[in-house]
Amino acid sequence: MTKPLLSVRDLRTHFDTDEGVVKAVDGVSFEIMPTEVFAIVGESGSGKTVTALSVLNLVPKPAGKIVSGEIIFQDTNILQLPKDELQNLRGDRIVMIFQDPLTALNPVFSVGHQIAEVYRAHRGLGKKEAHRNAVELLELVGIPRPDQRAREYPHQFSGGMRQRAMIAMAVALNPDLIIADEPTTALDVTIQAQIMEVLLRMREEFDAAIMLITHDLGVVAGVADRVMVMYAGKVAEMGTCEEVYFHPRHPYTWGLMTSITRADQRKKDRLIPIRGTPPSLVNLPSGCPFHPRCDFAEKICSEDYPDLRPVSSHGQIASCHFAQRPDWTPPAELVAGRARR
Ligand code: SF4
Repeated sequence: MTKPLLSVRDLRTHFDTDEGVVKAVDGVSFEIMPTEVFAIVGESGSGKTVTALSVLNLVPKPAGKIVSGEIIFQDTNILQLPKDELQNLRGDRIVMIFQDPLTALNPVFSVGHQIAEVYRAHRGLGKKEAHRNAVELLELVGIPRPDQRAREYPHQFSGGMRQRAMIAMAVALNPDLIIADEPTTALDVTIQAQIMEVLLRMREEFDAAIMLITHDLGVVAGVADRVMVMYAGKVAEMGTCEEVYFHPRHPYTWGLMTSITRADQRKKDRLIPIRGTPPSLVNLPSGCPFHPRCDFAEKICSEDYPDLRPVSSHGQIASCHFAQRPDWTPPAELVAGRARR
């Protein structure tokens, strides 16, 4: 049986603030298999990015702290690695692509120089060979005239080209896991699709798994193998992309789906936003943290926390008191949208 590339078990990452302890990630467990595309979806503040930063043990200190849990990457517990080994792991075996490539790239060095530096620092290559590799990578991610563009600076690249350059830098050392944090957020829809296509091509080329973090459930359709939906620092639902997309069982997932635009959107179709705002992570509501915003809440929802339970025979799980009911179906608007797909 194939072993998971990454196992996160009962992860809890908290932040000390003036208002109290923010439980940004609170008891999250999941696995990512080799070459799998695993998407983490949720609104801002749901804990997606903190989960990713925890995997790299990059939680901002001293306020942030991984208070418990295990993060096992290829048989190694990341949380117990000495600093130098952790440093080698980051950027070599696990890499992160950030949301805004303009701030992630150094404005005073050419793009080619920055990619070449990865080879020089981690592989000890000479200047010429490192530069040659950098140009090859720029070509691989679809940057035209890569030799010339390698000599240009980040501000001379468009947003989409900068993100391609970031992907080139990320895959330079043939990583096993690429963490992409909202890699398409600042880009228009056409460029978004191109960037996702480049990411998937790099997965094929380098046999890497991808942890894709996004607030947009639409981005993961047709891209992810499995999806984990997070709400208030916890897992609301997890399953294959098909299960979560076509048979979602958690009302929060239903809400995410009815609030996204679709390519087949008709003029008369309304987007239905999730009412209310995400809860304060210092003071979570009692019972199910989604209950103040949930149109389906009943008395038990404000009293008892719903444990994650299996809702399909293939491993789909959901944290809702009613998700195991056979008649627990999403709202008509969602079903109508599905039927037109
Ligand atoms: Fe809604 Fe209750 Fe299910 Fe929570 S447990 S998602 S409040 S129905």
